[in-house]
Amino acid sequence: MRRDFRFEPLVSSPDARHMRTGVIYTPHGIIRTPAFIPVATAASVKALTVDMMHDIGTQAILANAYHLYLQPGPVLIEKAGGLGKFMNWSGPTFTDSGGFQILSLGSGFKKVISLVSEEATVAIKSTRHAFVDNDGVNFKSHRDGSLHRFTPEISMNIQHKLGADICFSFDELTSLADSYQYQEEALERTHRWAIRSVDEFRKLQSENPDRPYQALFGVLQGANYENLRRQTARFLNTLDFDGFGIGGALEKSTMSEIISWCSDELPANKPRHLLGISEPNDIFTAIEQGIDTFDCVSPTRVARNGAAYTLTGRFNIKSAKYFEDFSPLDPECSCYTCQNYTRAYINHLFKAKEILASILVSYHNEYFILKLVEDIRKSIEQGSFNELRDSWLKRYYA
Ligand SMILES: [Zn+2]
Repeated sequence: MRRDFRFEPLVSSPDARHMRTGVIYTPHGIIRTPAFIPVATAASVKALTVDMMHDIGTQAILANAYHLYLQPGPVLIEKAGGLGKFMNWSGPTFTDSGGFQILSLGSGFKKVISLVSEEATVAIKSTRHAFVDNDGVNFKSHRDGSLHRFTPEISMNIQHKLGADICFSFDELTSLADSYQYQEEALERTHRWAIRSVDEFRKLQSENPDRPYQALFGVLQGANYENLRRQTARFLNTLDFDGFGIGGALEKSTMSEIISWCSDELPANKPRHLLGISEPNDIFTAIEQGIDTFDCVSPTRVARNGAAYTLTGRFNIKSAKYFEDFSPLDPECSCYTCQNYTRAYINHLFKAKEILASILVSYHNEYFILKLVEDIRKSIEQGSFNELRDSWLKRYYA
């Protein structure tokens, strides 16, 4: 089996010891890092075609194993030639393990998945939709309530069939409200699942040697405990992983520290992905602490509710005050939406419930974040990261 995957770190920064640029090489092309990976939950970046994604400079997309397992099923996607072929995306692809979505139905149901959640509470038993045991997780589908089970082996089989370039090991997401004792116990389970994930994934690859190489990333949990985060980074680094994902419910206040503990322990020659991020200031924090790639559903999710990013902050285009505003969404943006449409028109589209409203704002928002991360990458190369971060955040959050 040829390992058609590698990460080449390029420019490191005097501004922050873990921050760097680099290139990830995959069988479907390269990813220049740091990179924002738009989320294509069900093999579609909501409201956008792949041509649009190419136009705005998308390098890779991330789809969710959980959603694709429930609909249309991994067997169909395998028959179609894999995720990329199925959705007409020729570039690199990621799939997550399904663990996050499933466990979000568990003790953290509706509670811990928000990065801004300051007071996470454990969901009471009757509201849970997922139950963990030492071997795997039983869960109820969010679609129709049907019962399913994921184990590390099942997740690896699904991801192998989906055929993404970068896959993730199956892990247990815990809630910040869980006790330390539970975090420790869950982390040990995640370690055993990591070993099983590697074994199963490499077995599947050796059975299908003609397929393009799929990289496997180990997922770091450990909540907000330094010893657990460091311990898991050291342990996962002893296994046969091509890169790492930093998982778990991260609070805004501790995110920077948590990522720096993980980056301290992880090898410099393997890429680090942050699973799920929501706000522009988190992007600066993550990259500063050594994150190479991250995914984020926010640009399209908030767009469908009418929220648009601008360099002076986020605003909602549905507000009545834009009824007669003939300026673009963001006067400083050079995307297709901003070059061709007015706030008044988009305000009207939302009121008239026209699908085009979601398309135009999603396009702008994805472009906005991709452009921001590209600017950050250039600033690292030019040694001006701190200036960009300070001036950018000052304007955005003024
Ligand atoms: Zn724009």
